[in-house]
Amino acid sequence: MDMGIAGRTALVCAASKGLGRGCAEALAAEGVNLVITARTAETLEATAASIRSKYGVNVQAVACDITTPEGHAAALAACPQPDILVNNAGGPPPGDFRNFTHDMWIKALEANMLTPIELIKRTIDGMIDRGFGRIVNITSSSVKAPIDVLGLSNGARSGLTGFVAGVARKVASTGVTINNLLPGTFDTDRIAVTFEAQAKAQNVSIDEVRARRAEALPAGRFGNPDEFGRTCAFLCSVHAGYIIGQNILIDGGAYPGTY
Ligand code: NAD
Repeated sequence: MDMGIAGRTALVCAASKGLGRGCAEALAAEGVNLVITARTAETLEATAASIRSKYGVNVQAVACDITTPEGHAAALAACPQPDILVNNAGGPPPGDFRNFTHDMWIKALEANMLTPIELIKRTIDGMIDRGFGRIVNITSSSVKAPIDVLGLSNGARSGLTGFVAGVARKVASTGVTINNLLPGTFDTDRIAVTFEAQAKAQNVSIDEVRARRAEALPAGRFGNPDEFGRTCAFLCSVHAGYIIGQNILIDGGAYPGTY
């Protein structure tokens, strides 16, 4: 299927690895030119070079911490008028809510709620003027089914979700859509770190932890960033203009509810 977005420009945040990279690659495969961000210049530049040579699109790499005002400014200086915005950043640390300090809450809010809201605020009017825009926020299945040790994530991402629910409908008649993608368990570096910690705590091998976790999922496996990215590319396509303000779970069936 032709997604109808070749030649468009996308700003994809936190995209040197994992789910952000999956989205960047899938958009590039549709002929979308990219500005990608991540903190480490070397890794980010290597990703940009790989995407350029694989898909032949323009890819500009902007090394910055996307959760800071300087990061917002750098990303938007390189890409002031994106047609597509994919919001993403690292997730907050796990822990007991009694140990979450005010500073930790502010960091989680900056990363997983206020940065996406700021980038939406600063790009959406251009999209409305041009009559086309696609905004996809990478959130988490924890928005739908909270994970107790991820209180910072549950809270901050729910704030973004509530904001998006209102704005998405407000702009729906202008050709601009805003939706959230909710990953369950995907095979990325972030998950590998969690498995390492669990293996250590339970005194078993990492392979054993991985096998047990995969078995517990209805799909019997983890998701991969490529299939996540393709769902993102579809949401950014011309065919998805009637999908407004949705929270789309991609979790291998892990969420147990009927609705
Ligand atoms: P990852 O560690 O594989 O990749 C994260 C990417 O974000 C990297 O490119 C990293 O350089 C970049 N990054 C992190 N913090 C940044 C910052 N402040 N500024 C710029 N770039 C930054 O992680 P992932 O698994 O792809 O996760 C992406 C998001 O999805 C995270 O918020 C994570 O919490 C969430 N999530 C992931 C899963 C999963 O199973 N992988 C599940 C639920 C939610």
